[in-house]
Amino acid sequence: MPMIRTTCHCGAVSIAIPRAPEAVTNCNCSICRRYGALWAYFNSTEVDIQAAPGVTDEYAWGEKSLAFVRCSHCGCVTHWRPLEGRTSPRMGVNVRNFEPEQIGPVRIRLLDGAVTEQYVGELGVGQSDA
Ligand SMILES: [Zn+2]
Repeated sequence: MPMIRTTCHCGAVSIAIPRAPEAVTNCNCSICRRYGALWAYFNSTEVDIQAAPGVTDEYAWGEKSLAFVRCSHCGCVTHWRPLEGRTSPRMGVNVRNFEPEQIGPVRIRLLDGAVTEQYVGELGVGQSDA
């Protein structure tokens, strides 16, 4: 399976996704807006994350159903992963770590994670680095 691979800024964490996403999610919840992440969702089995032991730190909050993972050296948030008790195998990969040309034109869907948990709009194709 061809993979699209990148790393965090310092290179300590390697991230590979199976395909460029058709759309990514910009969420305005209290944590996502601070990270400034753009999330692409995949099944956990489709994503390859490689990091030496101790290279990553994690942050879980609220119901602690998922953990946000970052490089402990450069601080880049690379992905979130489901924690125990979460039924969906889905995970989120922060496409901000990829070169824009690796992702290409992509719809940016606006998720109101702060209040309604609904998608409320989107930005147009071609704004992959918006
Ligand atoms: Zn790093």
